[in-house]
Amino acid sequence: MITSNIQIASYLLASILFILSLSGLSSQETAKRGVLFGIIGMTIAILATVFGENVQGYTYIIVAIIIASIIGVLVARKVEMTAMPQLIAILHSFVGLAAVLVGFGSFIDPEVAKLQGAEMIIHMVEVYIGIFIGAITFTGSVIAWGKLTGKISGKPFVFKGKDALNVVLFIATIVLGVLFIQNLGSPMAMNILYIMTAIAAFFGIMMVMAIGGADMPVVISMLNSLSGWTASAAGFMLGNDLLIVTGALVGSSGAILSIIMCEAMNRPFFSVILGGFGQEIKTGKKIEGTVKSTTHEIVAEMLTEAESVLIVPGYGMAVSKAQHPVHDMVEKLRAQGKKITFGIHPVAGRLPGHMNVLLAEANVPYDIVLEMDEVNPTIDQIDVVLVIGANDTVNPGALEDEDSPIYGMPVVEVWRAKQVIVMKRSMAVGYAGVENPLFYKDNTSLLYGDAKDSVDKINSNINR
Ligand code: NDP
Repeated sequence: MITSNIQIASYLLASILFILSLSGLSSQETAKRGVLFGIIGMTIAILATVFGENVQGYTYIIVAIIIASIIGVLVARKVEMTAMPQLIAILHSFVGLAAVLVGFGSFIDPEVAKLQGAEMIIHMVEVYIGIFIGAITFTGSVIAWGKLTGKISGKPFVFKGKDALNVVLFIATIVLGVLFIQNLGSPMAMNILYIMTAIAAFFGIMMVMAIGGADMPVVISMLNSLSGWTASAAGFMLGNDLLIVTGALVGSSGAILSIIMCEAMNRPFFSVILGGFGQEIKTGKKIEGTVKSTTHEIVAEMLTEAESVLIVPGYGMAVSKAQHPVHDMVEKLRAQGKKITFGIHPVAGRLPGHMNVLLAEANVPYDIVLEMDEVNPTIDQIDVVLVIGANDTVNPGALEDEDSPIYGMPVVEVWRAKQVIVMKRSMAVGYAGVENPLFYKDNTSLLYGDAKDSVDKINSNINR
């Protein structure tokens, strides 16, 4: 058992470690150290909480920690890199559900019932807001999980009057909040909480259902942010300073990431977080023309003759785990004196930084991995672009077709290079479900097949 002073000091130390962890995670070189700080901070936080004053029921706590740790280790070992976003989404839903349960628990807590006057009102406002944000996070994250796993269609689901309904429900939530405070102490208050929870849960569903494929990255980082604010709200309800600080760190960093992603994708932030508020559904122009296919031998020859090559990876590289043969190919071509760069779109793959993580894992040097904004101005001078399993992030319709659902989103402008090779297995669309006019361009050929298989075959044809 530790004193409350030691607990406060431990919480402070854990908060500092979490801040160091976040700053470590901001660059690839320091990311491992960042993760380590996070682990140490979390261990201190758990120990300081479990051994705090007034904690009882150690048997339950130990059993819960053992079960949760086993599940955590199994899931972390089993999960594929490509399934990471859905895992994160479902974990966010747990934070939301926990906040809802903490809120109801706090509402019926006999200790809380002893509070008087303003103290009681402030606490109940915290409970009300905590449950509201928690329920939105819970259902929103479950829907995001469904969309990311493909169990729910990635297409935006909207109906006439959706925006008006959302506004009415939001006003109803505020009115119910006032009634809740006025009826504290009567059974009515609990009924109001139930109704508000149902409305918030509905909000969460509507908000994420209305989001189209290309805006999902922003929604995921926004749910991450919401889960942080939810934890903060739970911290207020439980009077736990560490939860408040940690939640605020996650909440604000998630909010900053969401804004950065919206800017990178040229999307109005408020429209996206309000479930596509005021946006119309677009389908894109019909594309006409023919698609050319090519062979591994021809691509190997093209690469041998090229002086500069740009590689644009996407989700397909992650699916096929092609990063290691891609690294081998890059080394071979660099040894021949060719200039090789990678162009990374901010939302390539299925989670922020997805491609960077894969390329780092394959030991591709950081200094040749450039961001979209760095490579776009240089593409006219590139001899060959290899698009490896990317689709939406290289779609010219985003710039040229006003009717495209992804119109306005910046993309890697690969078609401006002299020659473009797109590696994919079929003519299937990408995550946003939009046809890609790139495949029909004169300077573009498709190399059909699994990306890893294709790169392996190209490698064996280079320098034969
Ligand atoms: P896309 O999802 O647009 O396209 C991936 C392409 O890879 C598909 O067209 C598919 O074509 C191909 N592919 C799949 N498996 C393989 C394989 N084994 N070998 C070769 N090709 C394969 O990917 P992008 O990276 O270009 O774009 C990311 C999309 O995901 C964007 O719409 C983004 O908004 C969204 N998104 C991003 C998130 C993020 O945080 N980064 C989060 C959630 C969504 P085929 O089936 O024919 O092989």
